Amino acid sequence: MKKLSVIVPCYNEQETIDIFLQVMKQVETEMHLRFEYIFVNDGSKDDTLYYLKEATKKFTNVNYISFSRNFGKEAALLAGLEVSTGDFITVMDVDLQDPPELLPEMYQKIQEGYDIVGTRRSNRVGEPALRSFFAKKFYQIVNRISDTEMVDGARDFRLMTRQVVDAILELNEVNRFSKGIFSWVGFDTYYISYENRERSAGETSWNFWSLFKYSLEGIVNFSEAPLTFATLIGIISCVISIIAMLYFFLTNLVTQNPVPGWPSLVCIILFLGGLQLFCLGIVGKYIGKIFTEVKRRPSYIIKESHFNK
Ligand code: UDP
Ligand code: MG
Repeated sequence: MKKLSVIVPCYNEQETIDIFLQVMKQVETEMHLRFEYIFVNDGSKDDTLYYLKEATKKFTNVNYISFSRNFGKEAALLAGLEVSTGDFITVMDVDLQDPPELLPEMYQKIQEGYDIVGTRRSNRVGEPALRSFFAKKFYQIVNRISDTEMVDGARDFRLMTRQVVDAILELNEVNRFSKGIFSWVGFDTYYISYENRERSAGETSWNFWSLFKYSLEGIVNFSEAPLTFATLIGIISCVISIIAMLYFFLTNLVTQNPVPGWPSLVCIILFLGGLQLFCLGIVGKYIGKIFTEVKRRPSYIIKESHFNK
């Protein structure tokens, strides 16, 4: 029988782990696959680790990795993918917002020949309107300026073949933006839509600001358009200043009267100074990425782990 690795990142999820496993055990019986669970405790501050330990005692196919601190979901996903041994690999949230009932259908599609079966939310019910608005804008912008397609509403929840996961692990960048990486590797992808769900319990660890920063990550990691934009602004302001110079030179010749304009000069200096700092900031963002990239720090540090063999 073929094996399915289920990778589950957990951060402060003590309430949801048991509910998750209960539902998954039901799904297990519906599929002709051996299941291997890899929970990644991403430095939780609650009793997540305790619940994971209890789960390993109860079920022989439950394994866990526990980080030394919170390294973020991307790092947790990477750790899980690295140790997974299944022929098929799925990545899912523990809060049941990624419905496990979809797995049989997803596996069906894999058997039909797709390499990746992704999921996307058909709506954003239950989400603040402002957040939905900015999410939409983000996907519009990023898809316009990046060659890597990012599907609006696509979740990280997906089923992949071993070949795809090996390709993903080939990308050894430190700044990992999964949504981009999953799409960058290519392969035949099929998307299943489903209605947005509320969390089974607990609270989301994302707020507006963290989502905003996350979206900037996506742009900087998968597009060089902001750099082109900075160059363009520079060229445009050069052209405008040349035209202005000509204008003032000619009016001075005709009227024999030097142009008064202390206030306008101050405005122009401030404006250009601001523009320069703005563009420097854009360049700085990329240099910052290079900096973290060349340091080659590990994406995570494991404090303890448990593998039922
Ligand atoms: N998560 C994680 N590390 C973090 C934040 C989140 O491993 O630093 C996990 C979390 O436990 C959950 C998944 O990532 O299984 C998605 O998180 P959440 O439900 O908070 O995000 P949302 O579904 O609201 O996007
Ligand atoms: Mg969630």
